[in-house]
Parts: sequence; C-alpha cells; structure tokens
Amino acid sequence: MNVRRLRVAHWFALVVGLLLAVAAIAIATGVAGLDDLTARRLTLLDRIDPADAASLRLSGALVDEESGVRGFVIARREDFLEPYHRGRVTEQEALGDLHRLATIAELDQVQEDTAAVRRAAETWRSEYAEPAVAAARSGGEPPSADLGKQRFDAVRTALRAQQRDVDIARRAARKALDDAAADVKRLFIGSGVLIILAVLVAAFTLRQVVIRPIARLARGVRRVATGDFQEPLVASGPRELYDLGSDVDGMRARIAAEVTALRDAERALIEQARELQRSNQELEQFAYVASHDLQEPLRKVASFTQMLQRRYSGQLDERADRYIEFAVDGAKRMQELINDLLDFSRVGRTTRPHEPVDCDDLVEEALRRLAARVEETGGEVVVDGDLPVVMGDAGLLTAVFQNLISNGLKFRGDAPPRIEIAAERAGGAWRFSVTDNGIGIDDEYAERIFVIFQRLHTRDAYEGTGIGLAMCRKIVEYHGGRIWLAPAEAGRGARFDFTLPAAERGGPQTATEETPVHEHA
Ligand code: ADP
Repeated sequence: MNVRRLRVAHWFALVVGLLLAVAAIAIATGVAGLDDLTARRLTLLDRIDPADAASLRLSGALVDEESGVRGFVIARREDFLEPYHRGRVTEQEALGDLHRLATIAELDQVQEDTAAVRRAAETWRSEYAEPAVAAARSGGEPPSADLGKQRFDAVRTALRAQQRDVDIARRAARKALDDAAADVKRLFIGSGVLIILAVLVAAFTLRQVVIRPIARLARGVRRVATGDFQEPLVASGPRELYDLGSDVDGMRARIAAEVTALRDAERALIEQARELQRSNQELEQFAYVASHDLQEPLRKVASFTQMLQRRYSGQLDERADRYIEFAVDGAKRMQELINDLLDFSRVGRTTRPHEPVDCDDLVEEALRRLAARVEETGGEVVVDGDLPVVMGDAGLLTAVFQNLISNGLKFRGDAPPRIEIAAERAGGAWRFSVTDNGIGIDDEYAERIFVIFQRLHTRDAYEGTGIGLAMCRKIVEYHGGRIWLAPAEAGRGARFDFTLPAAERGGPQTATEETPVHEHA
C-alpha cells in the first residue's frame, strides 16, 4: 500500500499512536526509576540506619555490662550489678535486631560480624564475668583482671569490625540512593527529550502529509478560480485530499473544455454576426441605391403619363382613358413606395451625435405636423403628465411619435379617435406607450405589422404603404430601445410600447441627418 495514499484518519491514528507509545515508554521508565529510588531509600532508612543504631546500642550495652561487673567486683554491692543486667537485656535485643536487619538487607559481612560479637561476648561472660561475680559473692578467688581485659578487648575488636562493616554498608546504600536519584533525573530529561522529539516528528508528519497538500490544493483551486483553467492541478497527500484534488482537476478539465468550446462558439457567432451585418449593409445599400436610382426614370414615367392624361383625355376611346388612368395611378403609387423605401434605408446611414431631447417637444412637433388630420377626424391627443428627456436624434424620434399618432387617427373606429401618450421609468430607460381607441390589432399580427410594406388592410379600406411601423422599429432599435404591440385588451384599440434610453444614462451616440417621416396620406 502506498503510504502517502493513507486516509487522513489513518495518519491521525499513526501520529496519535506514536505519541501514546512515547508517553507510555516515558511513564513506564519513570515509574521504574521512582520504584528503584523508593526501594533504595527504604533500604537506607528502614534497614541500614536501624542496623547502625542497633550496633551502637549493642556497643553501649556491652560497655555497661563490663563496667557493672567491674564495679561489683570492687564494691561487692548487688546494686552495682544493675547495669550488667540491663546491658544483657539490651544486648539480646540489639543482637536480635542486627541479625534480623542484616538478613533482610542481605548484609552477610554484618551477619558474620554480629555472630563474632556474640561469640566474643559469650566468651567474656563465661570465662570472666560470671566466674568473677560468683567469686565476689562467695568470697572466693576471682579470675585475673588481665583475663577480663583480654576477653573484653576481643569484644571491642569484634564490635569495631561490626561498626566498620555497618558503616561501609551505609555508605554503599547512600551511594546507591544517590545513583538512583541521578538515574531518575536522567530518565526525566530523556523522556522529556523523547516527547519533544515525538511531538516534532508528529507535527512534521502532519505538515508534510496533510497541511502542505491542503495548501497546495488550495493554491491550485484559487488559480482555477481566477480563470486559469489550462494548467492541471497535481493531486497529492492522503487519500481524501488526493481524491478531492483529482475531482477538482476533473472539474477544471471539464470547465477548460467548455470554455474552449464556448470561445469557439463565440468566435463563430461573432463571425456570423459580422457576416449578417455585412449582408444587411449590402441589402440596405441595394435598397437605397435601387430606390434612389429608380426615382428618376419613375418620375419620367409619372410625368409623361400625367401629360398624356392631361393632353389626350377624351380624345381617345374610353378604354384608352381608363388605361391611362391606371398607368398614372400605378406610377404615383410606385413613387410613394420608392420614396418610403428611400426614407427607410436612410435611417442610420449618416450619423450625428445623440443629445438630450425633451419628448414633450417631439410630440408637440408631431402634432403640429398632424394638426390638419386631427382636426379633420375630430380626434383628441392626450399626453399623460410631463414626458421625459431622452438621449437621441430629435428628427428621428419625432417621426416615431408622428407615425404612431397618425396610425391611431387613421385606424379609428366609430367614435372620434382619442390617443393617449404616457411614459414611465424602467431601469436605465423610459417606457412610452401610445394607446388609441381604434379598431385594434389581433395578437397574432404582433410581429407581421412591423415588417416593411406589410399591411392588414386593403388600400381601399385604409390609405398607406405599410412602412410606418417598420420605420418606427428601425428608429427605436437604432436608439438601443425596443418596440412592441401590447397584448390586445377588450374595450381599447391598439397600444404600442417602446423604450428609449434615459438622458442621464447616455445612449448610442449617432443619428441620421434626414428626417424620414412617412406621410400616411
Ligand atoms: P400603414 O399605416 O401605412 O398601413 P404601418 O406600418 O403603419 O403601415 O402599419 C402596418 C399595419 O398595421 C397597418 O396597415 C394596420 O393594419 C396595422 N396598424 C398599425 N397601426 C394600427 C392601429 N393603431 N390600429 C389598428 N391597426 C394598426
């Protein structure tokens, strides 16, 4: 198994395990060291020191015994024997203690010394003390004082040997206690160093296998977030991080592919738009050139057929007069259409900067131009409040109001026409509405009516060429706005809505020089 592919939990368990093992070792060795120290302290305090004291007691007791016997022999008074008797009791106790302590402390030399002291004391007592006491009591001959001194010197020699050996044992125990204390100190220092090392190893391991891969992944993700999708993310670290890194890299690769595809599509779209624009320009150019160039021959046809009509009317037969009338009418109609087409194709051809224009002024101008029509139809045009100031070309925008009001007057119902104009703010733009009380328009024609030369009625029913709304759409879109037919509503005629950029927010910076208003007459 690849060690670096372990899970975070496994790494955590490993590191915690290491720390626990080190702690356990430190505690175990510490406890063992302390135990050893305690044992050595007990040996010194509870065995060697009491043995030392017992040795001193033994020595004192024997000296008491010797001086008691010596006093009794001289004074022959029983009370002088008191130290002898007390000394014997103390001697027995001290010998017992020494034997017991030397055994449990395993002090073989002291054991032997004690046996030697016991033997020497027994010899002194049996060979000198007891015969001397008996002789003093009975008034017999006591053993010689030299013998007493000799035997007691042997006791002193054995006592000194014993005290020396107890002292040696005490020193050894003291040294062992000091050594144990030093060992404990070393153990604590060693454990401390070991624990610090273990913590360092744990920290380093966690940093290498968890923290650094996280930081590396975070850097990679941040790079992707800032939009660099091309450079792959290198996944590393424990299994979860490796999987996460691989997933993020998969995501990055998919995003990179999508971005490339989107860019390709965008490029294709831009290319298409350019192509469309180019063919649109060509078409407009064609419409403009055709209508412009057709004007001249048409004018000739119109004027000569009109001349024919004026000069020869009534001189030919009736059928010829009718034919001439058709020709005059057709030529006039064609002139109208060609003029409209020319006006239409002029929108946006030449440019001039847009500027703030007050729509109240535009409507006023449109109404001035339509005054005769309003009067003739008995109509009424109402402006709802003040109209706003927008950015645009005054001439073109006047044409929009004029076309819409003119349609409202033209497509009237039985009642006298009434047209309402209103505007309301819609974000960075103004939305205008022109509502009439005329015959209205079915929703299904909402798009068709904006197509050039498309009409819903015959010329006999309503005059017109079908260019007015197409012109409105071209002008409004040229200003960056939109125009549409509002859904039909019972009880009202048609309502046209359109948007124009508000003055303070600016707008497209160009407009045409001509004023292509279609006169519906
Ligand atoms: P024109 O007015 O010369 O016919 P337009 O482009 O202005 O051309 O209008 C296209 C058609 O839309 C009109 O023929 C008419 O059928 C319909 N239309 C336009 N405005 C209105 C209106 N206010 N009420 C009813 N129908 C309308």
